[in-house]
Amino acid sequence: MTASVSATVPPQVRAFAATLAHTPESAFPAYVTDLAEIRAHALRIRAALPRRVELLYAAKANPERPVLAALEGVVDGIEVASGGELSHVRDALPCTRLTFGGPGKTQAELELAAKLGVERFHVESTHELRLLAATAQRLGVRAEVLLRVNPPVRLGGAALAMGGRPAPFGMDPSGLDACVELLRQAPDELRLRGVHAHLASGLDAATLVSVAGQVTDWAHAWGGRHGLPLAELNVGGGMGVDYADPGSVFDWPAYGAGLAELARRHPRVVFRVEPGRSVTAYGGYYVTRVLDVKRSHGEAFAVLQGGTHHLRTPATKGHDQPFAVLPVESWNHPWARPAVRECRVTLVGQLCTPKDVLARSVPLVALRAGDVVVFAMAGAYAWNISHHDFLMHPAPAFHYVP
Ligand SMILES: *Cc1c(COP(=O)(O)O)cnc(C)c1O
Repeated sequence: MTASVSATVPPQVRAFAATLAHTPESAFPAYVTDLAEIRAHALRIRAALPRRVELLYAAKANPERPVLAALEGVVDGIEVASGGELSHVRDALPCTRLTFGGPGKTQAELELAAKLGVERFHVESTHELRLLAATAQRLGVRAEVLLRVNPPVRLGGAALAMGGRPAPFGMDPSGLDACVELLRQAPDELRLRGVHAHLASGLDAATLVSVAGQVTDWAHAWGGRHGLPLAELNVGGGMGVDYADPGSVFDWPAYGAGLAELARRHPRVVFRVEPGRSVTAYGGYYVTRVLDVKRSHGEAFAVLQGGTHHLRTPATKGHDQPFAVLPVESWNHPWARPAVRECRVTLVGQLCTPKDVLARSVPLVALRAGDVVVFAMAGAYAWNISHHDFLMHPAPAFHYVP
């Protein structure tokens, strides 16, 4: 029997996990991040994109310092979405260009961003643009602005609407029109550089090329109507990561070719992309061990140390987190080792909720208490998006394999 969500764990991560298995119990759970893999993957992404397309990394996917350091010099800048991310990333990478996006920016955050020399502000509403103008005026600086838009974008006919639907993010085309007047009134405080659109996540390359094309056409026409030349277009992130099929990676070469064609049609525009998940997901592993194995009304369950309070992603996105089992032969108790063979097993954590499931009903050859389980694809929206304090279990250890 083969596991439906089996993961390939590279030798260096496997070796590291094996050393953890021979250290005291508190070694688990642990996040193990393969920094060389993250950097190599980012280099492949950079190489697939045309020169004129700038690559920003959306820090919210994984803002850990070693991860940011691994990306430094590969990406052209970092997109931050809060004052906290702003301070953290500026401190971690003092020389990297920063872009400030995200809804609900406070006056204090805008001020911090202006003081820290953020290169671009992605403005989400007319109120925010007013707040930014007032902040810039007070500080005597000029803010470089991309207006975030939620334009009508359709795919495969009328059925699949991606943009132009109600959302708290970005602005209606009408909101954008209202910004034009504000920009004209504050030429010393605000400079419009272009338009930003991030409409959805989890898309394939062909879909994202189509979205980028439609956003560009829309922005071009909008700028033309207002006599505003658009120098920059940030077409967002959202490159898909397929947790059900770890081997099928987003087609960066196809996406790069699509953007190259778009760039040829708009020779004076600088394009930007800002992926998060697809940059770091593959480099992170959540390593833990089986505490107990049991059967309940005909089904097998393995209770693992840790759980979705450390790795919430499978529970919220509804997938089985891919994993590999590292068999551990030692068993230190005088009684029989809890184990299952040749059956489907549901891997759960230590939380008192039926939602604490990392992988459901996965066919396995064998699983025993004491075996180590390495969950792959845990490098994005993993630890930082999880509800760490629920049940007050200890936090995992963090290890970085260079
Ligand atoms: C979250 C986010 C991203 C990154 O999205 P991914 O799906 O991780 O690629 C990029 N831009 C904005 C505005 C976002 O909110």
